[in-house]
Amino acid sequence: MKLTSEKLLGIIWDDRFRDISFSHHMIRDISKERIRRFIEIARRKLQFVEIKPELASLDDLLEIHSKDYVNRLKEVSALPYSGYLDGGDTIHYPGIFEDVLLVLGASKTALKFSSYLDFIYVPLGGFHHATYSRPMGFCPINDVAYLVFQLLKRKEKVAIIDVDAHHGNGLQEYLYDKPVLKINIFAYDGKFFPGTGRVEERGEGEGKWLNYNFPLPLSSGDDVFEIALRILDIVEEYDPSYIVVISGVDGHKDDGLKSLELTCNSYNLLGLKVRRLAKSAKVIGYGGGGYGKMSSECMVSFLVGLSGKKEELETPTISNTENIKKAKETLSLLLSFPQHFT
Ligand SMILES: [Zn+2]
Repeated sequence: MKLTSEKLLGIIWDDRFRDISFSHHMIRDISKERIRRFIEIARRKLQFVEIKPELASLDDLLEIHSKDYVNRLKEVSALPYSGYLDGGDTIHYPGIFEDVLLVLGASKTALKFSSYLDFIYVPLGGFHHATYSRPMGFCPINDVAYLVFQLLKRKEKVAIIDVDAHHGNGLQEYLYDKPVLKINIFAYDGKFFPGTGRVEERGEGEGKWLNYNFPLPLSSGDDVFEIALRILDIVEEYDPSYIVVISGVDGHKDDGLKSLELTCNSYNLLGLKVRRLAKSAKVIGYGGGGYGKMSSECMVSFLVGLSGKKEELETPTISNTENIKKAKETLSLLLSFPQHFT
């Protein structure tokens, strides 16, 4: 498939990505398989420029994580055995430190190449749970926070669209008081991991009123997702120079971490929406989470949408009326907030 206009897509890729996963051991293989299959399908269906990532430096890592935590990452990397960095979600293994630098380097390279290309995609990235001093939810580092900090240094106007089954708590924490528009769409029932993402969390300081959380009822389908995506219209009002998107595909109906009932069609729609919103803005996208048999297809579907093509790979899923009602109420509430940036 060719891109339908002059917009150019770059994908950050290193063959080493095939063997990197920070997930717990039960889903580590499927997590790697997702990345392996992604590049195969992408090469078949899309036209893009493949870009090799550089290795980030220790200083880069220290821009987003505490010295104590970085030292710990180095120490566990030198151990001859695997274990967990946290309570049992985020794995460490021999040599993880080098992999972490490669993953962070992908964001660094994405930023550099965004000067030449309209859309850049980092399939192995979007580790939105890690905070300044600790790992969380399969995320040993927060690569997106690093990218956004670099963009802010360059005085870019940034909007983040974080779509994943799980709320991007770490990223929200980093940027809660920063002048960045943040929109999170995720599954939440009051206790679903990571337990954050209330609608009332609206930011503070320079980030006051710029934080939007759109919790989706568990088991929501494509129709509810379409309602939630209407909140993205505020990105148009914000008029960013960069749109950073996490398109985590773990909300798919067959995902191992069962939460939502989405199909790949939803991720295609997200791509189409982002393309429409981008206008002159650059887009840097991340693969986020995904632990199911259709994860790779959904990642590519997002990119197909970004390239301007609609595709319906699966039969759309329909939500119960209660979930549709809840989503409409959330949308109305979020849209009723005064937009302080207009
Ligand atoms: Zn997730």
